[in-house]
Amino acid sequence: QAVAVVCIGMAGAGKTTFMQRINAHLHAKKEPPYVVNLDPAVTYSPYQSNIDIRDSVNYKKVMEEYNLGPNGGIMTSLNLFTTKVDQVIGLLEKRAAPDPENPNRKPVKHILVDTPGQIEAFVWSASGSILLDSIASSFPTVLAYIVDTPRASSTSTFMSNMLYACSILYKTKLPMIVVFNKTDVKDASFAKEWMTDYEAFQQALDNDQRGNAFGGEEGSGSGSGYMGSLLNSMSLMLEEFYCHLNVVSVSSLNGTGIDEFFEAVKEKADEFRRDYQPELDRLR
Ligand code: GDP
Ligand code: MG
Repeated sequence: QAVAVVCIGMAGAGKTTFMQRINAHLHAKKEPPYVVNLDPAVTYSPYQSNIDIRDSVNYKKVMEEYNLGPNGGIMTSLNLFTTKVDQVIGLLEKRAAPDPENPNRKPVKHILVDTPGQIEAFVWSASGSILLDSIASSFPTVLAYIVDTPRASSTSTFMSNMLYACSILYKTKLPMIVVFNKTDVKDASFAKEWMTDYEAFQQALDNDQRGNAFGGEEGSGSGSGYMGSLLNSMSLMLEEFYCHLNVVSVSSLNGTGIDEFFEAVKEKADEFRRDYQPELDRLR
């Protein structure tokens, strides 16, 4: 059965570049995936899509016709595309099943989905939810949350990023892999340490708080002040969140870590079948 991998992440985190990398990886393994692009605003796509939102809606025209700015344009394009969700799922199901007329054509094992640059346009919109739920009700579906590692290297950006990932996990209720991207620029070992060793993260928080405007007097650390106690509670909550994740570090630029990513996909797809599928079936 095919597994759907949906790439999400902040604008510029590297979703499209990562898609290109995993697409090339599967092609090299002679397991070409089925590729879906849901970003109406991308002007240049470095990989070939089987289904492309840009083939059915013209983002520039939508903006002009409805007098919209860039974000409204993306939302409206997604809304228009969502009216065709049945056709899209139909195509996916057809390619994921054996073709009786053409036994040489192997069913696809992976469906890769790229999402709009602005994460909230997809995750927090009605259309985004409809598209994601439709995919997840037909295939085991895994979220790849792409993180710009160099830009998440301070405790505050790191924590904000993880809180955001946590909110998406809560919203979508799908298994998630956190993909630390751009590790050719900055190694992700700091992040992995912070996610497994609570004290290491506390230590980093303390260090960042010193000399920080929020931290108050010299050496007050994260244990004091209103930010301090908030940070402590949030990091406790995150510790619980981390238990539900798989974490990989990759470079979409030079291709490191991609095998580990697909290992994680396998694990999370099994988890989907075991824990999520019964819940979905129950709700239907
Ligand atoms: P998206 O908005 O999430 O789709 O991000 P893009 O894939 O368009 O990438 C944003 C920028 O990050 C581009 O300039 C990419 O070349 C760069 N980028 C993406 N992945 C990597 C990586 O692994 N390493 C480095 N150094 N740059 C990357
Ligand atoms: Mg992109």
